[in-house]
Amino acid sequence: MDVAIVGAGIGGLAFARALELRSIRCTVYEQRNRYARSGLGLLLLPNGLAALDALGLGDEVRALSNPLDLAVIRTSAGVPLGQYRLQGHRGIARMDLMGPLQTAVPETVVRFEAPFEGLLGEAPLRARVGGVEVQPDLLVAADGSRSSVRSVVAPEWRLEPCPVSELVSVCVAPDLAALYDRTFLKSMATGERLAVGLVPGAFGKIVWFVQFDAREVGQVPTGSSAKREFVRQLVGHWADPIPELVERTDFTHTHLWVTPSPARPPAMVHGRVVLIGDAAHPFPTLTSQGANAALEDAVALARHLSEGPSIDEALAAFEAERRPRLEEIRVGGQALLDSFLSADSSSLLPLVDV
Ligand SMILES: Cc1cc2nc3c(=O)[nH]c(=O)nc-3n(C[C@H](O)[C@H](O)[C@H](O)COP(=O)(O)OP(=O)(O)OC[C@H]3O[C@@H](n4cnc5c(N)ncnc54)[C@H](O)[C@@H]3O)c2cc1C
Repeated sequence: MDVAIVGAGIGGLAFARALELRSIRCTVYEQRNRYARSGLGLLLLPNGLAALDALGLGDEVRALSNPLDLAVIRTSAGVPLGQYRLQGHRGIARMDLMGPLQTAVPETVVRFEAPFEGLLGEAPLRARVGGVEVQPDLLVAADGSRSSVRSVVAPEWRLEPCPVSELVSVCVAPDLAALYDRTFLKSMATGERLAVGLVPGAFGKIVWFVQFDAREVGQVPTGSSAKREFVRQLVGHWADPIPELVERTDFTHTHLWVTPSPARPPAMVHGRVVLIGDAAHPFPTLTSQGANAALEDAVALARHLSEGPSIDEALAAFEAERRPRLEEIRVGGQALLDSFLSADSSSLLPLVDV
């Protein structure tokens, strides 16, 4: 079997690794160049870690991330609203997750600067990527929430814009990281659609993010000093350590994450084209499930393909297994979004119990 994977993000690389472990041949086509870096940090949840364990990368990723065993929820003034024990959660810089995935896949398998350009035929499957025609047995689209492959195989499906956006930053602050250590701290302004999350990562890094209703706060400016001023106006007066984070963060590398609404996703399987990760099911930021569910998809699809009995039966079994689980996350994401938009602090925990 010969598999073409579009996108060398978290889902695409994880799937390539899973195929490598089963000696299934694949090529990954990625539009960016080899050195491009994007994204800042995320919460790894137990389901994502279990998938990394299945890929033989769990221990390496644990060594590059920070365990979190307590979630503290409070108001913007620092008044505690509750605390919850966490199990199997970790904070990680996105590049510290991408690193092990990238090195786990042989260099020759990934073609950079090779964007997906279109499908040329369905039986047999033919596609154009990076200026060349390929004829794989299967094409797996792991090209993110704005998937070009999805726009070809499910042209009627539209990404619903979500009012909630997230500005993600990383502050290298070993003193603060040591102070908050294993605590995921989330603050929300009472009666407002505005929250700040703080995730201590490894190596003295603090991943932190501001979640807001973009209809209320307007456009995030470009330029690091304008961004700092934007964040300062929003949350610079909140309880410690938020003012310090605002002043110490290098806003040059801040990432604005504009997430979609949890609309009912399209089918994952379209003949011999399969959508995985954000291409298949873009989740809103509040779930923290984007990377974790993409890892699960990758492991499940490789398992079904290696178990057969045929590619088409494997694809049907994959979709049947994943659909109910992804629907649970989507419905949970919708509830979190509704609660955030009604300024209710129960939206503050990530979606872990699905
Ligand atoms: C820039 C960025 C920053 C993010 N930052 C955070 C964050 O800080 N915290 C967090 O929790 N989540 C973040 N996310 C979301 C999270 O990383 C995703 O939910 C998760 O990675 C899903 O994995 P995926 O493989 O489906 O998509 P992605 O990891 O987004 O990977 C998609 C890949 O496909 C490539 N691609 C796109 N179009 C084409 C094409 N036409 N041809 C070839 N390749 C293509 C992209 O360049 C990318 O490498 C970020 C996503 C992105 C894209």
